[in-house]
Amino acid sequence: MQKIELNSLTIEELEEYIYNIGEQKYRGEQLFTFIHKNQGRNIENISVFSKGLRDKLEKVSKINQLKIFKRFDSKVDNTKKYLFLLEDNNIIEGVAMEYKHGLTACISTQVGCRMDCSFCASTKEGLIRSLTPAEMVSQIYMMEEDLNDKISNIVLMGSGEPLDNYENVIKFLNIIHHEKGHNTSYRNITLSTCGLVPKIYSLADEEMPITLSISLHSPFDEDRRKIMPIGNKYSIDEIMEACRYYNNKTNRRITIEYTLIEGVNDRIADLNELVKILRGISCHVNLIPLNPIKEFSQGRPSRINIERFEKSLAKAGIPVTIRREMGGDINASCGQLRRRYTDERY
Ligand code: SF4
Repeated sequence: MQKIELNSLTIEELEEYIYNIGEQKYRGEQLFTFIHKNQGRNIENISVFSKGLRDKLEKVSKINQLKIFKRFDSKVDNTKKYLFLLEDNNIIEGVAMEYKHGLTACISTQVGCRMDCSFCASTKEGLIRSLTPAEMVSQIYMMEEDLNDKISNIVLMGSGEPLDNYENVIKFLNIIHHEKGHNTSYRNITLSTCGLVPKIYSLADEEMPITLSISLHSPFDEDRRKIMPIGNKYSIDEIMEACRYYNNKTNRRITIEYTLIEGVNDRIADLNELVKILRGISCHVNLIPLNPIKEFSQGRPSRINIERFEKSLAKAGIPVTIRREMGGDINASCGQLRRRYTDERY
């Protein structure tokens, strides 16, 4: 019999689960606090439960655990990159970054990814499987325990397309935000998507005012399709329309991620079109100079070109920043480290 993964359940689901096994509902809240506030890992340590109840729970349920398989420390900026080992021996990545406003965790939502963006190492073996909510929260708890510090900001930007694992990601958000648990403000959470339009509408309707980040990377459909196959399914116009809906529903400004690739999307025509399509959208553009991967031959634009792009956007009234590269010496880009490890392993 498959055991129920207790740390994948929302507080309401835990209350219902506990009630259905013949216990009082409030035990569900105690269990939630034990797992998500106290970061308890073993059912046998739930001291507020009787031995009988702990034994009963152990038979039918478990608290899913990841293990830290390896940690890589950047010498330049204190970024820590983790490889986590899942119970089924799959490996995922997480990154902890120190900013002035606190510790930020970048977590994975899937093992691999099926979106096939050409500049991304996470997708080279396709999608292996989606992560459970427990496997997402555990990445955060493991980093906190390891660094002995509280994570205040979370970005869903590791391997995987979060909106391709929609139900589990929504549950994860619900769990990590809950005041009886980790209590992370929705405003401190960013979800990055390559543009699964129907799911952007669904997310807007969830009433979880997280920051939505769109991986755009080109303002032209034809060019975008060459580097992001999802562009064959949803056009840039459709994505922008969904962004307007998200703005209106959540009152949140959208982040537009734009990886600058030399000669591909850093031309004057790209700049002008980008300004045009973003008109009327409350957004902020994050320029990401390409971190080359061995599977993708294109290069990083020169510093001058990057700054020219930034200045021109700012002049057009669009808030813009160049993303500071974190952990450049430890392959901290999405999927690079896991890919290197799996390459070595097989
Ligand atoms: S960039 Fe994101 S959506 Fe695209 S393949 Fe990589 S993980 Fe998937």
